[in-house]
Amino acid sequence: MLFDLHSHTNASDGLLSSEELVERAAQKGVDVLAITDHDSVAGLHLAQVAIAQKNLPLRLINGIEISCIWENIEIHIVGLNIDPNAFALQNLIEQQAIRRYERAKNIAHRLAKLQIVDAFEGVQALAVNSSITRAHFARWMVNQGLVKNQQNAFKQYLSKGKRAYVPPNWCSMQEAIDIIHQAKGKAVLAHPNHYELTTKWLKRLLQVFAQANGDAMEVACSQQSIQARCLLANYANQYQLLSSQGSDFHYPSPWIELGRNLYLVKGCTGVWSSWERAME
Ligand code: AMP
Ligand code: MN
Ligand code: MN
Ligand code: MN
Repeated sequence: MLFDLHSHTNASDGLLSSEELVERAAQKGVDVLAITDHDSVAGLHLAQVAIAQKNLPLRLINGIEISCIWENIEIHIVGLNIDPNAFALQNLIEQQAIRRYERAKNIAHRLAKLQIVDAFEGVQALAVNSSITRAHFARWMVNQGLVKNQQNAFKQYLSKGKRAYVPPNWCSMQEAIDIIHQAKGKAVLAHPNHYELTTKWLKRLLQVFAQANGDAMEVACSQQSIQARCLLANYANQYQLLSSQGSDFHYPSPWIELGRNLYLVKGCTGVWSSWERAME
């Protein structure tokens, strides 16, 4: 069974529609796909419809990727096997959407001060029916010829401390975990190596996440050395967390692909172990 438990559609900053994403996942041999859009569940229904209509050999896991703050650091928590209609979750999604909208206005304001005008209108046109992310700003800046690629937009303007960065006021990590649990899902710490933490701080994060009733952490992703994977597997065991794996696919590229290079090393227990019986 090939699991890919982290992916994005155009309901947030992915480029493919739900239908295109599930078709691609099936083509790539994925058996179980979680769609985990940023602070949104809007892509899930159409994915389920496409799977049924096309009779794809793919099981969809309802997911979300919640942005939250821990110790002034932006952390992403993936919720897996959630009830997308749970009241507490819907409530949070609404709040996060307002926060995203306000932050986007502020980012556009900062860009205007740098003589880069009309960014808000620009990203709104790119994020129709979707949550507004910094990736939309990066994409708009590339389209405008202001930067060479999205990475440069982050490096020069959008990353923490850069000229158009606006500190977000996301929910707390505890709130994200609790709400995922209220929606009957598993709370998974996303991409632990993307936060640029020292070992000491990463361990502190894992300890606090586990103490806060977090269920699992991502151990395997598409682009990763075997050493990095083994180290994360050791941490999962040390902090008694289940393991997850996901590509964090946003759009077709030579580097990241649905289902690619996703497996757990010995000693890990997949976060899906609790659902497996229900899936047989
Ligand atoms: P937001 O949730 O609005 O802060 O947007 C974060 C999203 O921007 C992430 O989910 C990535 O898809 C994208 N992103 C973050 N950092 C970078 C980067 N350095 N280069 C390209 N994309 C990035
Ligand atoms: Mn993203
Ligand atoms: Mn993320
Ligand atoms: Mn993601």
